[in-house]
Amino acid sequence: MWKVEFLVSNVDTSHLWLLCRSIVLRKIKLIQKAASYKNMCECGLWLLKGYLMKNTLADIAVEGKKVLVRVDYNVPLDANLKITNDKRIIATLPTIKYLLKKNAAIILISHLGRPKGKKVDAMSLNPVSLCLSGLLGRPVKFIGYDCISHESKTAAANLKTGEILLLENLRFHPEEEGKNAVGEKDNNAMEAFAKELASMGEVFVQDAFGTVHRAHASTASIVKYVKDVASGFLVEKELKFLGEALEKPIRPFLAILGGAKVSDKINVIENLLNKVNAIIIGGAMAYTFLKSQGVSTGTSLVEDDKLDLAAELIRKAREKKVDFLLPIDHIITNKVDFTNKHVPSEADVKITVDEAIPEGFMGVDIGPKSIEKFSEVVKFSKTIVWNGPLGIFEINEFSKGTVEIAEFIAEATTNKGAISVVGGGDSVSAVKKAGVDKKISHISTGGGASLEFLEGKELPGIVAIPDKK
Ligand code: AMP
Repeated sequence: MWKVEFLVSNVDTSHLWLLCRSIVLRKIKLIQKAASYKNMCECGLWLLKGYLMKNTLADIAVEGKKVLVRVDYNVPLDANLKITNDKRIIATLPTIKYLLKKNAAIILISHLGRPKGKKVDAMSLNPVSLCLSGLLGRPVKFIGYDCISHESKTAAANLKTGEILLLENLRFHPEEEGKNAVGEKDNNAMEAFAKELASMGEVFVQDAFGTVHRAHASTASIVKYVKDVASGFLVEKELKFLGEALEKPIRPFLAILGGAKVSDKINVIENLLNKVNAIIIGGAMAYTFLKSQGVSTGTSLVEDDKLDLAAELIRKAREKKVDFLLPIDHIITNKVDFTNKHVPSEADVKITVDEAIPEGFMGVDIGPKSIEKFSEVVKFSKTIVWNGPLGIFEINEFSKGTVEIAEFIAEATTNKGAISVVGGGDSVSAVKKAGVDKKISHISTGGGASLEFLEGKELPGIVAIPDKK
């Protein structure tokens, strides 16, 4: 109060009016700012609700019904058609077990590989039916050749509650990917195929997160021809972790991006600049950013046509007050055998003193000073999203940066309560290599889908699921 009195007694009356006016204007500005912040929050909340308000298994009746479940059984097979990694099959068990408990009759549909609309024996889902049967300890019927054949439809019609049927690879039909028999884009053919698939069930459950970024017959079209539609438990979990990280993060929010190319992740960086407090860039991507700032990068992998864009992203980060962290030292070499993923014995491997890379050498991993600097940021973050390795992690000598950062992320998750979300095939392999995969809050099962989610793109397979009533 004394402050106001002091001001009033020290100004003449003409100035008093100006003073009052400026105080009132400042108050109005503050109120406007608060209102626009509220709008922003509400808009963010709306987006979040968009993902989290989708029908889930709990919202639809499945008891005693024929339930079509889109799963992602695109598993790796060896030359003897033996499944070398069954994690995608395991990821669907919670939904299948729930449906069995509810006494539903389950019809599973999936793709495997890229048969390009033709029957390819090596891409049959038969090995998956055997693996699934082993995991569940009960028979899984499999109808070969054609997922919409008379045999498939008869098996679906005769399926009893508590039984499971797996249909053959959807992509043996070109219509699954929106093409006709001669390989032309054909929406009508896709819709007709979706309708045939839908005719086998009463309810549709989307549990193939790995394909929800595709607008295919079994992801987007099929929902039009089935009465009740919901996400399965796997898709629900993916949407919860990715959605909450992006729209309702506990701060500080850190994104770590690595991998080979800036061009693959431009849209991710652009979108994340509006959401995060800090971005760490590693992998070959970092050299394009460093070169854009005039730093010498030797023979490192650089996308010269993306230098302006890289500089623009750094400028935008500064403008938005996002910490944009690049490596401050590197592991470098003058020779790498990329084909056999090893370091030739005659190669010279060194650590740089700073961010500059000398002529004739390429950056292959982040250096010790960078690991230390990045780890400090990881330790203080409460939400961490990671996509892409920070070096050529497939070669042991160049995996230290990626592995150590994976360990710091795991530590922040288990000891400091941070939420960590890892996506992309290589980052998932890296957390496994570091032996910390069990300590990460969520490992996404869809590389492409999670990347498109981080880009802020709409995912057709998710948009197609109706909102809760
Ligand atoms: P991406 O698919 O874009 O996530 O890239 C993953 C690939 O980037 C992996 O195969 C890594 O070996 C590669 N990579 C990471 N760092 C580097 C680097 N410094 N130089 C060359 N390739 C790299």
